[in-house]
Amino acid sequence: MNRSRRKGELIVLSGPSGVGKSTVISELMGSRGNLYFSVSFTTRAPRVGEADGVNYNFVDRAEFERMIAAGELLEYAEYVGNYYGTSLKLIQDKIEEGIDVLLDIEVQGAAKVRARCPEAVLIFIIPPSFEELSRRLHSRATDPEDVIQGRLQKAHDEYREIVTYDYLVVNDTVSNAAAEIVSILTAESCRAKKRINMIEGI
Ligand code: 5GP
Repeated sequence: MNRSRRKGELIVLSGPSGVGKSTVISELMGSRGNLYFSVSFTTRAPRVGEADGVNYNFVDRAEFERMIAAGELLEYAEYVGNYYGTSLKLIQDKIEEGIDVLLDIEVQGAAKVRARCPEAVLIFIIPPSFEELSRRLHSRATDPEDVIQGRLQKAHDEYREIVTYDYLVVNDTVSNAAAEIVSILTAESCRAKKRINMIEGI
C-alpha cells in the first residue's frame, strides 16, 4: 500500500451569518491534524480583534482588482459592498502536499469553486431553526434591528442554494457539528476512486 500520493481535499464550508461557523472551524482546527484553514483576502475593514494574516489578509480595492486581473484567485465574490477571495497558489500548494484545505466562503464563491474544482466537498451549515438564528443574531450583537433583519433575509436567500451542496450540517451544538464534519471528511477520504492508488499493480 502506498499512501504517499494522496492529494489534499478541498472543503468548502458555507452558512448564514450568526450560525457559528467560526466556532465550529476553531473546534475542527483543534481536533483534526492535516487541515489548513485558507485565510481569505478581503477589502473590508478589520473588525476589533481581527489580525491581518490571521482572520483575513486585508487589502485595498486596487490590490484586490490587480489580483483578479492577474488570475491569482481561485474564486472571489462581492458581498455587502466588499470583495472576498481565495488565493489560488496557496491552496494549490497545500493540496499538492496532501494537506486538506478548508474554505469559509459564501454561496457565490462556493458555486465558482464547484465549477472549477468539481471534486471539492461542499458543506452547508445551518442553525437548528430560523428562530434560533434570530435569537443568536440578537444575543451576540450590537447590530441594529434593520441589520439583523437584513442578515435573516440574506440567510433565506442563501438557503435556496443548499441543494447544490453535498452535505448539510445542523449546528445544534458546536461539538456535534464538528463531529459530523469530521465524519464527512473521513468518508470522503475513503472513496474508492481516491484510494485506488493505494493498491499496487492497478
Ligand atoms: P465576514 O465579513 O462576516 O467575515 O464575511 C462575510 C461573508 O464572506 C461570510 O459568509 C464568509 O463566509 C464570506 N467569505 C469569507 N472569505 C471569503 C472568500 O474568500 N470568498 C468568498 N466568496 N466569500 C468569503
